[in-house]
Amino acid sequence: MQYTHLFFDLDNTLWDFNANSYDALHLALKKMGLLDRIGDYGSYFSIYYAVNERLWDLYRDNKITKNVLRGLRFEESLELNKTPMPGMGDLLNEAYLTEMPKQLKLVPGAIVVLDYLHHRYKMSIITNGFREVQVDKLIHSGLKKYFDKVFISEEVGAQKPHKKIFEHAVKSMNAPKKKSLMIGDSWDADIVGAKLFGMDQVYYCPLPEKLPAAEDVAQSSSTKATTTIITHLEQLLEML
Ligand SMILES: [Mg+2]
Repeated sequence: MQYTHLFFDLDNTLWDFNANSYDALHLALKKMGLLDRIGDYGSYFSIYYAVNERLWDLYRDNKITKNVLRGLRFEESLELNKTPMPGMGDLLNEAYLTEMPKQLKLVPGAIVVLDYLHHRYKMSIITNGFREVQVDKLIHSGLKKYFDKVFISEEVGAQKPHKKIFEHAVKSMNAPKKKSLMIGDSWDADIVGAKLFGMDQVYYCPLPEKLPAAEDVAQSSSTKATTTIITHLEQLLEML
């Protein structure tokens, strides 16, 4: 067998972060009695989504702290939505993070694929999410039983794409690097990170617009590790 150990990203690879985040924020706003004040929820969520992505990139590059990210993403998006609520960022964040791990939507094919793979491979999670929500997400969604270990960046002290988190995960699992495979939906964090560490990777890319440019693939192929691109998780069953 080519691989013995599989390392999965969690958000948007197995747990449907985008759908769950949409539902959790809607619930949080509703419970705080703020839903009517923000106008059209879909439009607000698009703004929030873009702001959150940008701030997460800054957080991943250590340019802002987690505490700043948590509140600022709401303050900034509410301001851009022309419904500013100064001072509400942290409260809304708290309500949102309370709802978040209770959401159960999974990426299509996740359970079928994990059911098949977990008898055949040692499996673990490598995630950059917040410690206080990632484990609860795994428990509530029924995903936890498939994995021997969960490596959370905050606990390891390094985020994907940093080599240190892949190194730590592989060592902790006693996994030979050459027999290890990283599976994730983030080109920059999961794929480039694992590749630079020297591990093979599967890029799960359900949206054609997120396919990497040919020059990015070429640029990141300086190591011998191979990259496979899939558009549906069930394609893993053909290759593993
Ligand atoms: Mg992800």
